[in-house]
Amino acid sequence: MSEKTLNPFKIAQLQLKEACDALGEEDAVYELLSEPEKVLEVTIPVKMDDGTTKLFTGYRVQHNDASGPTKGGIRFHPGVTKDEVKALATWMTFKCGVVGLPYGGAKGGVIVDPSKLSKRELERLSRGYVRAIAPIIGERRDIPAPDVNTNGQTMAWMVDEYSSLRGIGQTLPASFTGKPVEFGGCLARKEATGYGVVLMLREAAKYRGMDIKDMRVAVQGFGNVGSFAAMYAQSFGAKVVAVSDVSCCLYNKDGLDVNDLMEYVETNKTLSGYSGQCEELDREEIFGVECDGFAPCALENAITSQNVRKMKAKIISEGANGPTTPEAEEYLLKNDVLIIPDILANAGGVIVSYFEWVQNLHNYYWRFDEVQEKQEVKMVDAFMKVTKAMEERHVDMRKAAYLVAIKSLAMPMRLRGWF
Ligand code: GLU
Repeated sequence: MSEKTLNPFKIAQLQLKEACDALGEEDAVYELLSEPEKVLEVTIPVKMDDGTTKLFTGYRVQHNDASGPTKGGIRFHPGVTKDEVKALATWMTFKCGVVGLPYGGAKGGVIVDPSKLSKRELERLSRGYVRAIAPIIGERRDIPAPDVNTNGQTMAWMVDEYSSLRGIGQTLPASFTGKPVEFGGCLARKEATGYGVVLMLREAAKYRGMDIKDMRVAVQGFGNVGSFAAMYAQSFGAKVVAVSDVSCCLYNKDGLDVNDLMEYVETNKTLSGYSGQCEELDREEIFGVECDGFAPCALENAITSQNVRKMKAKIISEGANGPTTPEAEEYLLKNDVLIIPDILANAGGVIVSYFEWVQNLHNYYWRFDEVQEKQEVKMVDAFMKVTKAMEERHVDMRKAAYLVAIKSLAMPMRLRGWF
């Protein structure tokens, strides 16, 4: 088995096509959703600490705004490409659609390895990127958020830059989400994606007649999503037997101490060298560990035809966007593995971003437990809708999630007279 394509945008279009065909929607629905509405490519000059000037390339893609303003994170990564950002923007539209948020999808990216930049250089890059995309974003138009290698600090710089650019003497906190709690951020936002990945794992376990408390879980990726997914899996009673990041895989069949690992990574940046109770393995070995649940929480194309045959899990909860290639997915489905698709499993981040935006617009803030409770209601409700579609239409869970999302998108497009 060899991968037909690893181009994420081609994969996103394929998923959309299959779902539109299954739903029997008019061709126009596929046509309208298969290409983004707007693709902006920018060049960002940054004064480096040594006095030289470097140019960086960035993108902001707005996929579809039929249901409301567009929404999606900004990624800083050396592997960013225009097609990757287009795919991620497309997935954001379906993510917002499946959980019923009044948003369309967007995404941003800058080609950069942030570990090679100083904090001052990163700040200048973040501000430069905002100046470049400012004409097409805004709190009622397109609201960015963090993604891979960006965080609350990045958002705080961006709000600051954007607010002064607008020149109306006002801070505009609702123009970005995922901000630090001390600066207009929302409690439980940082935890939201990982928490949602585990909420969905819990629901999927129930659906399959299992209990999360009896599950052994492996988490690939230990950044913002993976670390909190591991933490919540443990607090829900599962045994987290393996975690991995760029440096290695840590394994203990009796369970790792996730809180201790999080503290270790806080100071040491990666998992490698951790001296707690566990074995340190090659990072690729995470795919073959004995487990019941697997959460890929790093980047696209993690589960491929190269490693899928080693996998033991019966349920996969996709914390990352696009972590499973179509070929790997075909193999998993044949083997009766339940894949909770990214657009549902990792929707917790954008759900709580939506809550943050609502709070900013009203300048009224909610408690941590109120936010998590509201997140749970939205995600469990979406899970029910998706499993219902799965049973009614006899399709796999990804296709069912697309069906739910496409239905919610087709109606506003039709009502607005787009087809
Ligand atoms: N970057 C996150 C995602 O891929 C969050 C987007 C947002 O909060 O707008 O879903």
